[in-house]
Amino acid sequence: MTDIVDIFKTIIEPNRIKVGDKIPIKYLGKNKSLSRAECLLRPVNSEEVSSILKVCNDNKRIVVAQGGMSGLVGGGDTNSGDIIVSLELLNTIYEIDPVDRVLIAGAGVILQHAQEKVDEIDCMLPVDLGARGSATLGGLISTNAGGNRVIRYGMTRYSVLGLEAVTANGEIISSMNRMIKNNAGYDLKQLFIGSEGSLGIITKCVIKLYPKPNSFSTAFVGIDNFDSLKEFLTYTDKELSGGLGAFEVMWSDYYDCVKSNYPSMQMPLTSKYKYYVLIEMLGSDPIKDQEKFTDALGFALNNKLIEDVVIAKSDTDRKKLWAIREDVYEVFKKLSPIFTYDVSMPIKDMEFFADETKKKMGSMFKDSTTLIFGHLGDGNLHLVVSVGDDHDESHRKVNNIIYGIISDLGGSISAEHGIGTEKKDYLKMTRNKQEIDLMKTLKRSLDPNSILNPGKIFD
Ligand SMILES: Cc1cc2nc3c(=O)[nH]c(=O)nc-3n(C[C@H](O)[C@H](O)[C@H](O)COP(=O)(O)OP(=O)(O)OC[C@H]3O[C@@H](n4cnc5c(N)ncnc54)[C@H](O)[C@@H]3O)c2cc1C
Repeated sequence: MTDIVDIFKTIIEPNRIKVGDKIPIKYLGKNKSLSRAECLLRPVNSEEVSSILKVCNDNKRIVVAQGGMSGLVGGGDTNSGDIIVSLELLNTIYEIDPVDRVLIAGAGVILQHAQEKVDEIDCMLPVDLGARGSATLGGLISTNAGGNRVIRYGMTRYSVLGLEAVTANGEIISSMNRMIKNNAGYDLKQLFIGSEGSLGIITKCVIKLYPKPNSFSTAFVGIDNFDSLKEFLTYTDKELSGGLGAFEVMWSDYYDCVKSNYPSMQMPLTSKYKYYVLIEMLGSDPIKDQEKFTDALGFALNNKLIEDVVIAKSDTDRKKLWAIREDVYEVFKKLSPIFTYDVSMPIKDMEFFADETKKKMGSMFKDSTTLIFGHLGDGNLHLVVSVGDDHDESHRKVNNIIYGIISDLGGSISAEHGIGTEKKDYLKMTRNKQEIDLMKTLKRSLDPNSILNPGKIFD
């Protein structure tokens, strides 16, 4: 019987195939020490992806698509016998059009590279997140990633005009629409956006660009109560005339934890407020925008919506403020082992959610730390929880506390990271039976042999 790897050698150059122990560790996801995938394939174009999938489908072999492996829910994890298809060599930028304002690129292009290229023609690629140096366009699309600019530009889905994907039987579905308006039949790209590599492998995409902002006005704010926080969001959203580009909130435990664990981090405000907000306005006129921004914050201060504010005076100041929100993985390491969460709910319920979570954690565990922060303007909070161990039993208990409250509030257990393997047991707490049944019907119809990322999202 022909070894499947020998068949792959007739499709792609042998030097782009790695087998068993030769697969570098970065492709193995969280199961690094458990089991090796059978092989890693690194195709360079859609036709190679198509031929690989035909072979895998005929032989009923499991395929795991991988981009930059920055996903946080185990969507790219592999088991023994799996075939990894890494899209990293589909990394060509085909076109950047400043008039239509589109980027046309391969799925393996790294976000930061795309952002830099787009910047050269004075445009902006709206998707941005901490993993910009490793996440790929295909990975961002297949997880429908959120990030720092959702309040202004929406999730990745909003920026995808078209894409090309290969379905399980090897069919190349080229739907490279570049128009904003196209209502000719079903919007097929939506099947592949956010489906975490379970309905097809994305090979190319058309991304909508925006004019590059010429000004970034950034401030760090201290607030004493949740009603003022909500009012401050509504006020700035209106007052900055659509320019609000980020509204990131940190609960006091988060701020204090960064302060005490990260001595080199420059903290702009004293540790006495209940909430801290990193607010940013994007605009086109550096002088007038800064005036407008300063006036709005002055009004908020005078009217007691906020208690204190520090405004960035330079790009260096701005980066220092963002570091408090973004560059804190060292702090989380110190709290390790940790469990992390990415939930969404109506903004009005967030105070109750935070208080209830901390109360329940306090009565369930003798010693626990719960840090809450996130993209509050998008209804999205992140939690970092430490209970002193990472036993499955503890993890389940914390999951049940957090997802139980989320479920009661009608929120979502995954705001932006996806479901992958990590959250699939809890999908039913956030999606009803009919929704999950329809997902399974779609999966069966596009991938009848269930070769594409099976066991991710749902069983
Ligand atoms: C420091 C850090 C900060 C982050 N911040 C955010 C954030 O703010 N918001 C947010 O939403 N996420 C965030 N993430 C998560 C992560 O960056 C995103 O999920 C990202 O979209 C994953 O892209 P990737 O190329 O690394 O995909 P991978 O991790 O390789 O894969 C993720 C999933 O997509 C599938 N996939 C990958 N490429 C393809 C393809 N071409 N076709 C089909 N399926 C594919 C995989 O099978 C897997 O299920 C962060 C991660 C880190 C490490």
